[in-house]
Amino acid sequence: MAVMSLYTSRGFHPSLTDWRNHSRFWEGRVEHVELGYELSGRCFGASRSIACTRWCRTVVSCDSGRASRGISAGAGQAEVDSGAHPVKFRYDVMLSEVSTWGIGGPARIYAEVSTPDELATVLRYCTCHNVRWFVVGKGSNCLFDDRGFDGCVILNRINFLEKLGTGRYRVGSGYAFNTLGVQCSRDGFSGLEFAGGIPGTVGGAIYMNAGADGQETGDVVQNVEILTTSGVSHSLSRDAGELKFDYRFSPFQKMSDFSVIVAATFDLQPNSDAKQRQRIYLERRKRTQPVTEKSAGCVFRNPGAGCQSAGALIEQAGLKGVAIGGARVSEKHANFLINGGGSKSQDVQALIALVKEEVHKKFGLWLQDEVLYIPYNQEQQL
Ligand SMILES: Cc1cc2nc3c(=O)[nH]c(=O)nc-3n(C[C@H](O)[C@H](O)[C@H](O)COP(=O)(O)OP(=O)(O)OC[C@H]3O[C@@H](n4cnc5c(N)ncnc54)[C@H](O)[C@@H]3O)c2cc1C
Repeated sequence: MAVMSLYTSRGFHPSLTDWRNHSRFWEGRVEHVELGYELSGRCFGASRSIACTRWCRTVVSCDSGRASRGISAGAGQAEVDSGAHPVKFRYDVMLSEVSTWGIGGPARIYAEVSTPDELATVLRYCTCHNVRWFVVGKGSNCLFDDRGFDGCVILNRINFLEKLGTGRYRVGSGYAFNTLGVQCSRDGFSGLEFAGGIPGTVGGAIYMNAGADGQETGDVVQNVEILTTSGVSHSLSRDAGELKFDYRFSPFQKMSDFSVIVAATFDLQPNSDAKQRQRIYLERRKRTQPVTEKSAGCVFRNPGAGCQSAGALIEQAGLKGVAIGGARVSEKHANFLINGGGSKSQDVQALIALVKEEVHKKFGLWLQDEVLYIPYNQEQQL
């Protein structure tokens, strides 16, 4: 039996040591993860089999007294193990630490994953214990709630890069998108020059179809490897017509059986000007955007053909520098809302509402959010 460590004050129950795979016990709770077997033993208190989804079919959980969410309040840290890929869980990690806005209360559960197997372990755990989860890359397009997230936040650090051939890169979804952009341009390939200025991950860029300077992520993605909600690895390809992107839209935003992007392959074209072009883009960004301040980039989507940019509309509505609490409209680029220090999520939400109202009064159109608000719990989401 592989030993499983729990970084809590609780211990293992000695009678469980001969269970076939991994068993754990804490505070009256026994959980047995048995790969490929049905467990027929009895354990403390009532025995309960969890519904057989593909993720869960090998998990039997036995509770006595505590809720079946599998998390011990205030326990600090614990390790979840489903075989060879243990993952450390932490509790009450502040989401302000994983958001470029520096805003957000505590995540009830928090896990960092650096391999697809670790990711699968956490997803399986969440599914089996009915824990709501959310995957975050760099948190550069997310507004977390002041109350935090009543579930599990999974920080994606699946961070590899493989060069498969001329201009073809296979990258882990947690790989830094700006690093990828710089590397490809330096190698003399065009298509991701714009990415040099985007502080997200590859997974976040694909999910959002991030873009700038006339380029978009979706233009150069050849293949995306995902996990489905039932835990199956699946690959979608451009050639099969499965990857149709639009302005800040990817098919993953609407896919019913989708859970997480694990990796992607990009196809880029040789171009000796790529590095120089990227330098120009980065210089323009520094000149026109508040890149040293805490933000999530552009907050509103551009309204579309025939209309001015959202930033221009906000500026003409006289809103540059307008502040609510610690949040203010950037003086440098009006589509950036800045956390000037101590801003709450509520300040940003109120400022977003104010900007929409004022732009509507002046131009008769409602701006749409580009940033994603991540609600604290399910009720808020509905
Ligand atoms: C200074 C600054 C400049 C910016 N400039 C631009 C710009 O020019 N153009 C632009 O488009 N954006 C820009 N952004 C916004 C942001 O960087 C992009 O949207 C980026 O792609 C988000 O990546 P992320 O990893 O931070 O995603 P996150 O903010 O962590 O997540 C965003 C969404 O993607 C989902 N997601 C993340 N990873 C995965 C995954 N592996 N699988 C499935 N879903 C996933 C999350 O669940 C969430 O729904 C800017 C932001 C900042 C702070």
